[in-house]
Amino acid sequence: MAATKVKAGAAKKSAGKSAKAAASRKTKAPAAKAAKKSAARSAKSATKAKATNAKTARPATKTKAAKDVPDFTDFPAGVVTRRDVTLCLACIFRLFTKQLGLAPRTAYNEIRRYAPTVEELTSRNPQRPFFKPSEEKNPHCPYCEAPRRWHARVTVHRVEGGKATDAARRALVRTLPAKDGQFQVHEEKKTARQVFFEWLERLGQELDFEDDNAWMPEAARAYLQRREPKTDWAEVFDGARAVRRSHRLEEGWEREGARLFLAPPLYNDVLLVQYLVSRSHRHGGRTFDGRLTLLDFVRRMRHGGHLEAQGITDRDQFDVLEQLVEHLAGGDESAKLHFIIDRRDLLNKVKDVYARHAT
Ligand SMILES: [Zn+2]
Repeated sequence: MAATKVKAGAAKKSAGKSAKAAASRKTKAPAAKAAKKSAARSAKSATKAKATNAKTARPATKTKAAKDVPDFTDFPAGVVTRRDVTLCLACIFRLFTKQLGLAPRTAYNEIRRYAPTVEELTSRNPQRPFFKPSEEKNPHCPYCEAPRRWHARVTVHRVEGGKATDAARRALVRTLPAKDGQFQVHEEKKTARQVFFEWLERLGQELDFEDDNAWMPEAARAYLQRREPKTDWAEVFDGARAVRRSHRLEEGWEREGARLFLAPPLYNDVLLVQYLVSRSHRHGGRTFDGRLTLLDFVRRMRHGGHLEAQGITDRDQFDVLEQLVEHLAGGDESAKLHFIIDRRDLLNKVKDVYARHAT
């Protein structure tokens, strides 16, 4: 695995060196990808082999399995996100046995069937019996102090629907084990605008706004990944020290040494994303073009011909922003979100807990 990584890195570096090499990059990239894939595959089969010894080496197997399966390596970056939440089985067991008066066996069966909603699982402030996974070595339930053996991890993979992911997602879902509802699949209909703002909010939570040199390119890359999922943006940004507006390109991007040039429409959209994601964190939005008030931003877009190109004729700065955002986000177009909920750890842990409880 380490060897694969070094090779892929070397291919990237040499590709960045000259225009000639850039042409060969296209041929090298798939090879690196294939290597990555086969590495992932062998890691997977190793996990499977380990899984047969589940009884003897359980804790290690569980964490390993959760990392590798389901396997999203074939999905474009940026369309799949993962959220983990911890479920306290002591809390829920107590609720079922003490408050609802169920016998332990019945409570056990109920918990096995328990299907938490996406909302419960992905809430920013999880409610009892859920809590945020802790970095601590020996975490305790914040509600009842129960130690780790009572904690079950539930993972939600969120996949944005669309041409780039639908076939891969269907294929993936078919490979998931159906037994005992280890995985549950859920779908939500949204508008493109809603999905965009959810994405933006999450991006804002992930970025560290203290360091402009880190978050600005990161925000640009995240947006470009979302907009053109088929391009390997990690590679495009690798070694890029500056992102600039291109005066030559009408569309797309090009790398020139350590600089990445974006065609004006692309660059302007990146500025808008930076403006939107940072305006609540800083006074005025922060962008590659500096700190901008809404008025500055709208002026810049107008002078650059960006408003005209999008047919925006409003004069009021707030109306203009709204129009720009509609254009960027996709407005009322329908969009689908798919959730794959991994309940395997819940099923395993509840079995352990019941075994302890019954004896
Ligand atoms: Zn608890």
